[in-house]
Amino acid sequence: MCILSGEWAIISRFSELIGGSFLFKSLKFRIFLLVMLVGMIPMFIVRGIILAEYEKNAVAARTSEAVNNFHILADYLDSSGYIYDPSSDAVSREIDQLSNLYDGRVLVINGDYRIVRDSYGISDDKTIISQEVIKCFRGGEATKYYGRDHFILVSVPILSLADEERDETQGVILALVSTEGIKDTLAHVSRNSSVILVSVGIIVFALAIFLANLMILPFSKITSAISSMEAGYDKKPIDVKSYAEMDSILGALNQLLERMRTLDESRQEFVSNVSHELKTPLASMKILADSLVMQPDAPVEMYREFMEDITHEIDRENDIISDLLSLVKMDQKEGTLNIKLVNINELLEMILKRLRPLAEQNNIELVFESIRQVEAEIDEVKLTLAFSNLIENGIKYNRKDGSVRVVLDADHKFMSLEVSDTGIGIPQEHIANIFERFYRVDKSHSREIGGSGLGLAITRSAILMHRGSVKASSVEGEGTTFTVRIPLTYV
Ligand code: ADP
Repeated sequence: MCILSGEWAIISRFSELIGGSFLFKSLKFRIFLLVMLVGMIPMFIVRGIILAEYEKNAVAARTSEAVNNFHILADYLDSSGYIYDPSSDAVSREIDQLSNLYDGRVLVINGDYRIVRDSYGISDDKTIISQEVIKCFRGGEATKYYGRDHFILVSVPILSLADEERDETQGVILALVSTEGIKDTLAHVSRNSSVILVSVGIIVFALAIFLANLMILPFSKITSAISSMEAGYDKKPIDVKSYAEMDSILGALNQLLERMRTLDESRQEFVSNVSHELKTPLASMKILADSLVMQPDAPVEMYREFMEDITHEIDRENDIISDLLSLVKMDQKEGTLNIKLVNINELLEMILKRLRPLAEQNNIELVFESIRQVEAEIDEVKLTLAFSNLIENGIKYNRKDGSVRVVLDADHKFMSLEVSDTGIGIPQEHIANIFERFYRVDKSHSREIGGSGLGLAITRSAILMHRGSVKASSVEGEGTTFTVRIPLTYV
């Protein structure tokens, strides 16, 4: 336990030194470690199995050979009556020979558990009562391998063959058979296999470094491809041949880059559109003012007329700026929504009341059709702006004596609003673009009637913020219908 905690302390100190957490976070290092483990662990296991198998078989062979030889000796001891009279030198020599052969010790024990012969000559006449001896007297040989001390304990009964009927055990041969030879062979094999292991280890180490570098290569390529992309997003998508999993990450990254590129483009386009839109009224004002300056004796009527035009341009500039501000507000995140339960019928009544004078100016009839009472969780200010834009457009882009029809309905989940007019309509090829900022079907006509080209963009942003949808359908020369759907509850 103590040693383990000591080792652990050394390992953690080592990993600190080599920048531990970074190292283990590194995929390259993990691949290297994996290859090393996969390469080396089986080698160690196989080496262990081979050594253990060899030891088992060698011990089994030596045991069976020793048991056979001691059985022969037991028969000899029986036939020579050595148990009762151990004076025979020939038999004693035989015992010593076997003792030498097995580099061990041989004890001959009689029926009184007394040692009649010890090949070491140190325990003669002593009494021995051990498990193996007792087991042998009960009939049966016993063997046991003591691997740590390198010997096999063999006990063989000395059976009386004179009386075949009784087969009586007169004594026991207890022998210690040395296994030093097996130990030496094992050490030799182990040494040789260690050399092989070290050689294989070096090859696996080199292979692990090679594989780790090879497998990490696509990552390095992608990193350098990303770093080589300078601030802009105008480069081609990143294309690196790599793993299937990496391909999907690359796909997502390329999509993100594409989105950033589009956003960047639309931001640039927006800025140039804004500048252009703001410059147009300024240019008109400058022309008007310049022509007055160039004619010092211009009549008062002319001054009045030009000043009216300048006021008109200032109003336009003002409108554009307030629309831009509204749009910026819409672009902010959803957190800015001030959601309340609002009666939509009342809201539309109020909007129509406000727009009625404009409609009357153009002799346009405003019709409100409410299929049911609708209450929804909305941001009143933002949706008022959205609905007003749609109805105002219906009036602005109408023909003389036309009409605008506003229909409100709801189901259990959504409210729907339909604003249809009998106006000039929108050509099919323009319908997809009318919600874009500053997009106008007919620039001059739109400007003439005071449009900034931002109304529908504001409308769409406000509706999307409410997780709703808006779509337009139109027949040129007949009229346009905008359909809005907004969830009744805001979640
Ligand atoms: P504007 O301020 O110019 O009206 P909008 O964003 O509200 O800008 O609308 C974009 C363009 O879509 C308009 O310039 C106009 O050409 C067209 N449009 C919008 N509403 C209608 C409609 N009801 N009928 C015909 N054209 C429309």
